[in-house]
Amino acid sequence: MSGKYGKRSKDGRDSMRGTKGENKFGGRGGASSLAGVPVAVGQRVECEIIGLTHEGEGVGRVEGYTLFVRDALPGERVRAEVLSIGKSFGRGRMTEVLDAGVSRRVSPPCPIYDSCGGCQLQHLGYAEQLKWKRRHVVDNLARIGKLPVAGETREMIEGSGEGERPPVIVHPTIGMDEPWRYRNKAQVPIGFGDGGLIGGFYEMGSNDIVEMDACLIQQEENEETVRAVKEAARLLGVSAYNRATGRGLLRHVVVRHARTTGQRMVVLVTNGRDIPHAQELIGLIRERVPGIASICQNVQTAATPVVFGDETHVLWGEEVIYDEIGGIAFAISPRSFFQVNPEQTVRLYSKAVEYAALTGTETVVDAYCGIGTISLFLAKHADRVYGVEIIPEAIEDARRNAAINEIANVEFAVGAAELVMPRWQAEGITPDVIVVDPPRKGCDPALISTMLELKPERIVYVSCNPSTLARDLRLLEDGGYRTVEVQPVDMFPHTGHVEVVCSLIYKGLE
Ligand code: SAH
Repeated sequence: MSGKYGKRSKDGRDSMRGTKGENKFGGRGGASSLAGVPVAVGQRVECEIIGLTHEGEGVGRVEGYTLFVRDALPGERVRAEVLSIGKSFGRGRMTEVLDAGVSRRVSPPCPIYDSCGGCQLQHLGYAEQLKWKRRHVVDNLARIGKLPVAGETREMIEGSGEGERPPVIVHPTIGMDEPWRYRNKAQVPIGFGDGGLIGGFYEMGSNDIVEMDACLIQQEENEETVRAVKEAARLLGVSAYNRATGRGLLRHVVVRHARTTGQRMVVLVTNGRDIPHAQELIGLIRERVPGIASICQNVQTAATPVVFGDETHVLWGEEVIYDEIGGIAFAISPRSFFQVNPEQTVRLYSKAVEYAALTGTETVVDAYCGIGTISLFLAKHADRVYGVEIIPEAIEDARRNAAINEIANVEFAVGAAELVMPRWQAEGITPDVIVVDPPRKGCDPALISTMLELKPERIVYVSCNPSTLARDLRLLEDGGYRTVEVQPVDMFPHTGHVEVVCSLIYKGLE
């Protein structure tokens, strides 16, 4: 998953809950036995689970061999059927928990948890999920970043070559008090079922769409909107897109809900421009969806799993809806990247602001700024903020957001951060603080080099991928920075994802 903006959402979701078509048991069809591998495909084995992958699979050990077992939890001894094997690891399916040990297994409240795949951790108690997310961050920092972490054993950081530097503090994950019903956006694939048009999620490991009415991590308003749109489409005989033939009209229904204003948006993603009975459809949606402020159409005719096409227009109402985070208003257009968990976003951005330690006189760069969310958060506390982002529409939104909030000390540029930053450097812009919030693949090496040349006093790194974060922190450390604090934030409860914000300080200034 590379992009966070537009075509793919930050957390890679392509349905109301599910990650499209990903086969968790991938690699089937390989050899059924391999020299030096103690298990064979089809065999039932007992294994101890010693860890959890970020995909939520249990990491099992059978005679020293690693077997990833979905649904199995750390601390358990399970029986698993081997589904695929490779030289260094294999995959299995849990058939039985033999000994639950110290695991914190709970019964997943969602009735479709097993077939959906959108959540990976519902079977683990929430407090334990938060611990595992922190553990995942610590492991990456130690293994990939070779960083000494406070409170962790020396063995983990052996070979790090660190002298007497103070260890990195990794705080406990900031979780939600009520970790359900948090998502403000749903992307629902539409298809054919027994009774006609259906919409829900891609069944795990297949391209089949399963009808779904309830999703426990989705805000109820979104469920209500999706239900109303599906009913209206059925009533008017709108055809569903058929992924095999490329015929049929309605491909996706994308809905958003802004909790602070109550506004809702519906985007109909269609295979062609013409919508038969468009006015009746709009009328029914307006009648049945409270708070509806925007109905848009996006045309996507390509045979691709990518949700949106290039053409978007308003069918009724506004082209944006408004939401507020931490007292700042944001206009959100159909394809804008906007954090999906507003409650946790405030916590994440507030940490970023805290780590930036601004006094009001600083020049700040916000690289990978999206629609300017972090930039606007920082602007109140800085002299001047420069935001850079590769997607032109996002920068249009960012400028509009600055204007709505009457924030004048921000400037936005379109382009790749790694190309724009050297330009700014040439223009004599010397940031005191640089904030980066890159997509999953992390920062471009050229950007890291520029940061090391600019030598800001502080760097704040916001990341959705602990492994690329750890890689980049190592580069920054080698270039003279010290990672001080790391704060994991649970933006996506019950999924394997974890968001992290880190503070770094230039050693020469200590
Ligand atoms: N900070 C924002 C957005 C973070 S998402 C927020 O919290 O809302 C990461 C952003 O980086 C996306 O908007 C993506 O379009 C952008 N991006 C990806 N590659 C980039 C690059 N090379 N230069 C600048 N921006 C990039």
